[in-house]
Amino acid sequence: MLEVGEASEKVLNAISALDTERVAIEDAASRVLSKKVVAATTSPPWDNSSMDGYAIRSTDVVSATKLKVVATIAAGSIASRPLGAGEAMRIMTGAPLPLGADSVIRIEDTDGDSDRVTIREFRDLQKNIRRAGEDFHEGDVLFEAGAEIRAPHLGVLAAAAVRAVDVHRRPRVAVISSGDELVELRDYSEKVAGLKIVSSNSWTLPQLIRDGGGEVLDLGIASDDPASLRAKLQQTEGCDLIVTSAGVSVGDLDNVRSVFAELGGELIFWKVRMRPGAPMAFGTLRGIPWLGFSGNPVSAMVSFEVFGRPAIRKMLGHAKLHRSLIDVRLAENVETAAPLTHFLRALIGRGSDGAFVARLAGSQSSAVLSAMARANALLVVPADCRSNPVGTMLRALPLSDDLLMSETFEIQ
Ligand code: AMP
Ligand code: MG
Repeated sequence: MLEVGEASEKVLNAISALDTERVAIEDAASRVLSKKVVAATTSPPWDNSSMDGYAIRSTDVVSATKLKVVATIAAGSIASRPLGAGEAMRIMTGAPLPLGADSVIRIEDTDGDSDRVTIREFRDLQKNIRRAGEDFHEGDVLFEAGAEIRAPHLGVLAAAAVRAVDVHRRPRVAVISSGDELVELRDYSEKVAGLKIVSSNSWTLPQLIRDGGGEVLDLGIASDDPASLRAKLQQTEGCDLIVTSAGVSVGDLDNVRSVFAELGGELIFWKVRMRPGAPMAFGTLRGIPWLGFSGNPVSAMVSFEVFGRPAIRKMLGHAKLHRSLIDVRLAENVETAAPLTHFLRALIGRGSDGAFVARLAGSQSSAVLSAMARANALLVVPADCRSNPVGTMLRALPLSDDLLMSETFEIQ
């Protein structure tokens, strides 16, 4: 049995960033650049005003405080001639500065006259000008390969007149559930009530994959008949990752591993010293990495967080693959029953001293999915820390950005 860290290393070593595709910036959000991006234009393209006011020459107002207003420059228009001596031009925020001007006096510091303006206050001399290229110049590298495209990046790309970028492809992830006891939610009826359970993994795993940046190919439920799983696996051609749940333990009908072997799959490891999720397989099939999770609903989700999310992030081209662990103080005693790394469903909040405090989010059975829904983090209990009294400091793996959110506005 591998330790969690060793298993994670084996998974990530078998995975690389996917190849590149060129996408319009409409489709670039949340993607990772595979090539640097160079600005196709300069921003701003010209010196422009950062205020509504009057463009003037600072040398003029040494002698006179009254200037002749010779033009109005709106944002979107350009002065038809340079600013002469003793002159001012009314100018709006964002409008190009006329040649010859070196200051914009804000309107509040003048009498606002449109014929002969009087300047009352000189604090703005040499000010209120945004210089051409102050954001970036044509030819500048805007972003290096590896940058994730978020809202400000989209804005910069648009401002730089860049219409398309090279990004890593999103992984196409095939998801297969297996087990004779399972039924799709859409096929659930009175008839199967009491005989079958709805495949909840068919809802949790696809959502986790999409949330992690992958595209889902849901291949549905294979029965425990090997032929059924074989048929599903034939449909994974062209996928970048295969995720199966159930059938990798030691039960009589746990035949997922043997079907993989039959089809020429290569098993890299089986079983990890963790709970939940110890019976887990990792290998490749026709070169496609395969994560074979336990069917227990909580186990499958925890295994995804530990192995699946980082794997998808690596395929997407991210350098940071893992969620950072946070330090938490136990608000209750926590005992574990076996020398395995435990990932306990926990609810983390702030203590009165502002530090993170952890409580368990209910039953730690790997079948109790509602505790997973209540939890906002997985409390990581190392294998050799079996008994952890209140106050013990441990670490936790956040499950979402819930820990960054607050009910109150903290700036007063
Ligand atoms: P297995 O990994 O096949 O030993 O299954 C472990 C437990 O998880 C069993 O109780 C299964 O009924 C349950 N299980 C397996 N697959 C699913 C699924 N897709 N949705 C919900 N429960 C499942
Ligand atoms: Mg089963």
